[in-house]
Amino acid sequence: LKFVYDFTEGNKDLKDLLGGKGANLAEMTNLGLPVPPGFTITTEACKVYLDSGEEPPALRDEVSAHLEALEKKMGKKLGQPDNPLLVSVRSGAKFSMPGMMDTVLNIGLSDKSVQGLAKQAGDDRFAWDSYRRLIQMFGKTVLGVDGELFEDALEAAKEAKKVADDTQLDAADLKKLVTKFKKIVKTEAGRDFPQDPREQMDLAIKAVFDSWNGDRAKLYRRQERIPHDLGTAVNVCSMVFGNLGPDSGTGVAFTRDPASGHQGVYGDYLQNAQGEDVVAGIRNTVPLAELENIDKKSYDQLLQIMETLENHYKDLCDIEFTIERGKLWMLQTRVGKRTAAAAFRIATQLVDQGLIDEAEALQRVTGAQLAQLMFPRFDEKAKVQQVARGIAASPGAAVGKAVFDSYTAVKWSRSGEKVILVRRETNPDDLDGMIAAEGILTSRGGKTSHAAVVARGMGKTCVCGAEELEVDTKRRRMTVPGGHVVEEGDVISIDGSSGKVYLGEVPVVPSPVVEYFEGRMHAGADDADELVEAVHRIMAFADRKRRLRVRANADNAEDALRARRFGAQGIGLCRTEHMFLGDRRELVERLILADTEAEREESLKQLLPLQKQDFVELFEAMDGLPVTVRLLDPPLHEFLPDITELSVRVALAESRQEPHENELRLLQAVHRLHEQNPMLGLRGVRLGLVIPGLFTMQVRAIAEAAAERKAAKGDPRAEVMIPLVGTVQELEIVREEADNVIAEVESATGTELKLAIGTMIELPRAALTAGQIAEAAEFFSFGTNDLTQTVWGFSRDDVEASFFTAYLEKGIFGVSPFETIDKDGVGKLVRDAAKAGRATRPDLKLGVCGEHGGDPESVHFFHEVGLDYVSCSPFRIPVARLEAGRAAS
Ligand code: ADP
Ligand code: MG
Ligand code: MG
Repeated sequence: LKFVYDFTEGNKDLKDLLGGKGANLAEMTNLGLPVPPGFTITTEACKVYLDSGEEPPALRDEVSAHLEALEKKMGKKLGQPDNPLLVSVRSGAKFSMPGMMDTVLNIGLSDKSVQGLAKQAGDDRFAWDSYRRLIQMFGKTVLGVDGELFEDALEAAKEAKKVADDTQLDAADLKKLVTKFKKIVKTEAGRDFPQDPREQMDLAIKAVFDSWNGDRAKLYRRQERIPHDLGTAVNVCSMVFGNLGPDSGTGVAFTRDPASGHQGVYGDYLQNAQGEDVVAGIRNTVPLAELENIDKKSYDQLLQIMETLENHYKDLCDIEFTIERGKLWMLQTRVGKRTAAAAFRIATQLVDQGLIDEAEALQRVTGAQLAQLMFPRFDEKAKVQQVARGIAASPGAAVGKAVFDSYTAVKWSRSGEKVILVRRETNPDDLDGMIAAEGILTSRGGKTSHAAVVARGMGKTCVCGAEELEVDTKRRRMTVPGGHVVEEGDVISIDGSSGKVYLGEVPVVPSPVVEYFEGRMHAGADDADELVEAVHRIMAFADRKRRLRVRANADNAEDALRARRFGAQGIGLCRTEHMFLGDRRELVERLILADTEAEREESLKQLLPLQKQDFVELFEAMDGLPVTVRLLDPPLHEFLPDITELSVRVALAESRQEPHENELRLLQAVHRLHEQNPMLGLRGVRLGLVIPGLFTMQVRAIAEAAAERKAAKGDPRAEVMIPLVGTVQELEIVREEADNVIAEVESATGTELKLAIGTMIELPRAALTAGQIAEAAEFFSFGTNDLTQTVWGFSRDDVEASFFTAYLEKGIFGVSPFETIDKDGVGKLVRDAAKAGRATRPDLKLGVCGEHGGDPESVHFFHEVGLDYVSCSPFRIPVARLEAGRAAS
């Protein structure tokens, strides 16, 4: 096993081994770009160290060999007193991570070699500036000294001299500062600043390794779901100097604008500066374009290199560079982060430039980014007063009056107020308030906190962990930085996509992307914005590539029409339960309470035309596309009044000696139907089997509606779906009745209807006996919500708010199994059942209609297991289309 790679040995595909920074330094080196020579210690070495507490024995020798080679190449030795080689020790994991150890520059300087460096460069000031930086960085990051002590000392030195900039301190000042810094190290770390250059280097390397398990790094990995066992690489890179005077400097650049995607010159430059000075904001940087006036030769070369990098990586790159006395050096590059909007634009721009093809363009965007672009957002032109920034936990733009407890949230929202629930953190008791609120804001907790998990589950805007806010729930107020106090009832605005918190009402505008999907904005039109053009094209790429069809979960014509505009290719789940609510409740009550067959038939007769009309409208909206209608699913008692309310009514009537026969009968029925565990009770196909006539009425309504649409020259494509089947016998009985009814309607209307009959697969037993069930089903639709509940044995409504946070924190789940399909468990049943079903009936149609149908990762899984379609809520359709396209390319 080899633990150390020279920059000339690696390449960009070795990120696992060399980390992102090391892999890209190697790639640039091999492209012939000017990278200061150096080497990378692998993540494998780090893993050995973290596992055993000791560096692998071979490491020391390998580092020595590489250091020697480097010294030879550079013609000087590390820390050599008269002509020192200096290096930086830079951390670099596969994913860049806050909380990892910072880079230490200028390693190799000591009381002796600082003199050598001064002579070598012919610049005393520079040498002492470099030395004080080393002690400062080393003291802070390797020896754990509080960084403020150094900063304060530097400030004091500037004040004593009455200057504003550190560049105005001269060699003598800096020399004094070095003495001061060394004293700080001695007192704080209890040891002298090491004078041995190799010891400096070794300690720095170890410190990088150790920082992998620092608290902040661990927390970040948990939040971002980065595995804990990757380890970090360490880069040792020979120093170049941007602090050698006005013809030197350091900067950052992007090959195109990471916010808009536009090509151009984007970046910042700082003369006579080193390392982090640019981003630390200690002096004002100049826009990169200025460099053309400062150093035209380096500027031209930089633009040339940026083009080379873009063509090579075929993507937006960001870059860190340094100029040493007119010579340009590349210190880092990587494929740059970008906003969701820029991701879509850049992908299409690169296609136009011929750098990538359509399939690759689809890999450059994600469904999550598309979803982000579909949320309403705050008007960019609005004047805002931002007061804090937390973690963007659940996207959206929410405006409302601040309330500090759940009770008030519910009370106010009932009276029509929009509220934002503000808490230090939330717990299951806050659930009602969270439901009532427009958005949720907390001052504690990360992406897996209760607030974040529950808000995402509800699709509600949430900003969490806004630590700058002092939330005082007792006094119903919060204090924002600067001291302003937000009282209960004051309006605030929160942006769940950026984590920003604003005072007052920020105007919200609809997303242009939704306007486009809704057909209110057209690609190709003069005023269409660039983003819409890009989304339009990417969606076309996806539609061309994908094999999965995408249907909608929709129960009424309005939703069906929207779903069609969003690209739905049918309805995968039409729930019929809402058709039994509202005015029709009474009819349902009578049906449930019926004592005689005649009574029951009477209620059904009255329900039939109403049901039929629902379906006529739906089939018309989805004309020419399949509509899967699920027969009644929920437990009966859901259609009856609340038990407590009813008891009170009965008791009152009794005490007043008023007639209450009906109420009493109702109450008895409610008691009779009460179930300890309704989710596992009398529902779905079980209802159809014990309430004679219920399912046949529904089937008749479907058949008659289809016949009516046919008569009107429409093209209805209804499919009848039986829920909660556990055994083929259930399905056979219902099916026989249904076939009879359909035949009756066909002969009565003289039309051939060709209604397909199929079932949901949402119980483990159904999945396990899918081969038998397929004998009686023309299609399967996997109901992955119920299947997840029944496979895991927990109820979604009860557990998401209770123990899921703990499970996520402990890493038992990476993500809620209700959000992303549990591939190993639930997914295995889906895969096996699909296979068994098709073995029985090769043309069996397979779909999925749980929430998972719109979840990116799950869509990829359903593609892999060979389903025909996914069905999801209308708003998720574009995301599902895109992900289906990505899965197929
Ligand atoms: P980060 O991961 O925070 O970007 P880097 O390792 O890139 O840390 O170091 C930060 C900065 O330090 C770089 O952008 C560069 O300006 C400076 N730096 C690092 N190594 C060297 C070097 N060998 N010579 C000169 N400057 C360096
Ligand atoms: Mg960097
Ligand atoms: Mg179900």
